[in-house]
Amino acid sequence: MANKMLRFVTVDRQTPEKRDAEDRTDDFGEIYREFATARAEEQAARCSQCGVPYCQTHCPLHNNIPDWLRLTAEGRLQEAYEISQATNTFPEICGRICPQDRLCEGNCVIEQSGHGTVTIGAVEKYITDTAFENGWVPAIAPRIERSESVGIIGAGPGGLAAADMLRRAGVQVTVYDRYDRAGGLLSYGIPGFKLEKEIVTRRNDQLAEGGVAFELGVEVGRDIGFEEIRAEHHAVIVATGVYKSRELDEANSNAPGVVRAIDYLTVSSKKYFGDDVPEFESGEMDAKGKRVVVIGGGDTAMDCVRTAIRQGATSVKCLYRRDRANMPGSQREVQNAEEEGVEFVWLTAPGGFEVHPVVDTAETGQVAPIKGVMVQKMRLGEADATGRQRPEIIEGADYLEEADLVIKALGFEPEDLPTLWGAPELEVTRWGTVKADFRTHETGLDGVYAVGDIVRGASLVVWAIRDGREAAEAILDRLAANQSTVAAE
Ligand SMILES: Cc1cc2nc3c(=O)[nH]c(=O)nc-3n(C[C@H](O)[C@H](O)[C@H](O)COP(=O)(O)OP(=O)(O)OC[C@H]3O[C@@H](n4cnc5c(N)ncnc54)[C@H](O)[C@@H]3O)c2cc1C
Ligand code: SF4
Repeated sequence: MANKMLRFVTVDRQTPEKRDAEDRTDDFGEIYREFATARAEEQAARCSQCGVPYCQTHCPLHNNIPDWLRLTAEGRLQEAYEISQATNTFPEICGRICPQDRLCEGNCVIEQSGHGTVTIGAVEKYITDTAFENGWVPAIAPRIERSESVGIIGAGPGGLAAADMLRRAGVQVTVYDRYDRAGGLLSYGIPGFKLEKEIVTRRNDQLAEGGVAFELGVEVGRDIGFEEIRAEHHAVIVATGVYKSRELDEANSNAPGVVRAIDYLTVSSKKYFGDDVPEFESGEMDAKGKRVVVIGGGDTAMDCVRTAIRQGATSVKCLYRRDRANMPGSQREVQNAEEEGVEFVWLTAPGGFEVHPVVDTAETGQVAPIKGVMVQKMRLGEADATGRQRPEIIEGADYLEEADLVIKALGFEPEDLPTLWGAPELEVTRWGTVKADFRTHETGLDGVYAVGDIVRGASLVVWAIRDGREAAEAILDRLAANQSTVAAE
């Protein structure tokens, strides 16, 4: 067969078609359409099959990207899927929401040589979506049932990746989560326009059908004790993510109309799932007809501004204290947001919150709803120890940005697990993240492992998946070692 690869010289980089801004802001569906088969094969064929694939090195899962690109280019999609799923538990999710520009695609050799990266994420998504359509994704059906059980606290991508691997090996797995649905931030955080909920639900269903037991609506530390879970299982994985929102000190920063990003996005996700959500129905967490200001420049802020647009806000402004080049959020998402009508107000920070005069209502008592944010203008000064220019206030340049809804998207910190769980022996770092071995993910407590954001701090789905898979492998090794000890006795 003639070599189909190295087409980057003659074929330009193309992403899947993006829906028009006007069309896509009417709903919460994903904004990119699926590659047509011919286009996926053509784009995969742009890969140069280089000797040292930096894409693979910079993918946290070390996906065998060049091989599945070649197989896709040759039309051997089932084999491409086999290779892709060998290293990634949820390739269709990573293909959709990994920040590829910072990971695989940003390090693609042909990108470095100026030809434009291979669209690795879109091809990964295409391969797995096709595999689901064709029934190539095997059900979870362990060949043997083992007697050992593992308890996993947290049904986000870290916990679920571990659950998948352990269950396929025949281990009895129970996943505990305080939410009423599995998925963690995949279900209640990341909006449908980046990742449609059906994609997550399909995996949750697959795990449940494969015998993973879900104990949902169960908060560890409140409804069940950590020690109780430890006593019940041979090993425990802590995969609880980070949920404590960073706050602002200014007066009125919690006035009616000022909300936390995670609350706003969770309510919006529940609505998308079709639930009855009182906070949305009352208008408290609905941006419809409102002037919205979002504070922050990360991916969470990007998700809030774009959600507000879809809810029918009259205007959406995003305040960020540095400039465009220095914002932490993905540039791709900033562009998407701008196309959808979001205005970025660079080099600005909140200096305070103005409220309307107090209104008396019989039902609620006194309320002083938000009137707007006092905005401080900033400039970039000297670089700090990390090399990043420090934002400095321009004195006397403050102004009031009127708003009906203000969303605080300032980042997340871990909850204080040792206190909440009455487990002072669970060691944490000075930032409150759980201390765990970077390879096995075992904590200082025998048989207790920790993965994902609760160890790394707010991070990425792909890293949580990697941690979950590695912890599962370490647990399987431990169970095997215990078995040989028993056999030897
Ligand atoms: C708005 C937003 C957008 C994001 N966008 C992206 C993106 O585009 N791409 C990307 O790669 N990453 C993104 N991230 C980051 C990504 O979602 C996280 O890094 C990832 O979900 C971490 O996985 P995890 O399994 O560690 O935790 P989580 O997904 O947070 O799951 C933790 C689970 O633990 C449960 N839990 C917590 N405490 C308890 C308890 N005491 N008892 C029982 N259950 C408990 C929670 O209910 C939750 O279901 C985004 C994050 C946010 C907030
Ligand atoms: S998992 Fe993420 S980083 Fe790895 S190949 Fe897929 S999209 Fe790229």
